Amino acid sequence: MDLMDNFSILVIEDSFSDADLLIKNFAKAGKKGWSLTRVERLSEGIAKAKTNHFDITLLDLSLPDSDGLETVENFIAAVPDIPAIVLTIASDEKLAVAAIGRGAQDYLIKGEITPELLIRAIYYGIERGRLLKQLVESNADLEAFNFLMAHDLKAPLRAIKIYSEVILEDYADKLDDTALDYLHRSIASATRLNTLIEDTLNYSRMGHSQIELEKVNLAEVVSVVVKDLELLIEEAQAEIVIETFSFNVQGYQSILIQIISNLVTNAFKFVSLDTIPRVRIWAESCGHYVRLWIEDNGIGISAENRQKIFEVFIRLHGVDSYPGTGVGLALVKRGIERLKGRVGVESELGVGSKFWIELLEYEEN
Ligand code: ADP
Repeated sequence: MDLMDNFSILVIEDSFSDADLLIKNFAKAGKKGWSLTRVERLSEGIAKAKTNHFDITLLDLSLPDSDGLETVENFIAAVPDIPAIVLTIASDEKLAVAAIGRGAQDYLIKGEITPELLIRAIYYGIERGRLLKQLVESNADLEAFNFLMAHDLKAPLRAIKIYSEVILEDYADKLDDTALDYLHRSIASATRLNTLIEDTLNYSRMGHSQIELEKVNLAEVVSVVVKDLELLIEEAQAEIVIETFSFNVQGYQSILIQIISNLVTNAFKFVSLDTIPRVRIWAESCGHYVRLWIEDNGIGISAENRQKIFEVFIRLHGVDSYPGTGVGLALVKRGIERLKGRVGVESELGVGSKFWIELLEYEEN
């Protein structure tokens, strides 16, 4: 940042002596381009901030017309674009930390402010505020894109698929083999695009919804998953062995089902044609954590690809050899992070892979 920045700084502080000290620190900071405006009440501060340009606000939490966390909440709700640094006394540091949780960028303790601290807090607060604004904007763009995918893309896609199927049913005798083949390919592509949209939406939803971790019986979740996948397992002629274990973990049932389901599906999917898929599932205790293993006898993953596969849309094979969208493991990673757990893989090319997830054990108190 250019050290000659011209910043307009709004100070909302009712105590004359505190404001005076602050102004002296600003003078010592020697930033000629910085200008200060001081008001005493939150309502005045909000009114000024709405009608003038300010780069940052220094906000005292106890004002004549507002006190405590409400001060920061009301300020940010009224003028979300102006970053706020909270001013507090040493005995209220906990409150100041809580204010950061409500959207303040930083806090300064009155009586401990130095010109250097002030400069750092101002630069840091402005920069953080700018990054946050970018983040909020790109999140809004993503939300809009998700909405578009969920509504506007899926409807025409459904129409393409339905009309192609109608042509196939009602006009099949009027079409030659090449036309029929093209039609089948169109339907397959539309189905694939629909899966891609669904998977991407699932991935994006996994990042947003609010969850509270709860007690989950790991063996029960595994048996629900295997039951749900029964038909696919039969189709793949896979053998699934679940060893006996009994652990409760801190998790969230529906997310865990999705995670384990993706791992088990991959375990019997990425197997060479002439191999009967064999999957073994077991769990063990690792300190305060429980580790669930899903082992397969599949094609394996080379060392250089073992991290990459957890990125979204990364696939090591074409859809012709193994169907998929490349979202499954990214969803596993995002899901396990939401559960404050970890995921990893050990693998040997041509021999098989062992994926594991680790979750905090649920301890009864
Ligand atoms: P998808 O299954 O839709 O391809 P994933 O995100 O689940 O997407 O997996 C990404 C890639 O990681 C897969 O395309 C595959 O190349 C590789 N992979 C995942 N699981 C396994 C496994 N058990 N054995 C071998 N390769 C795997």
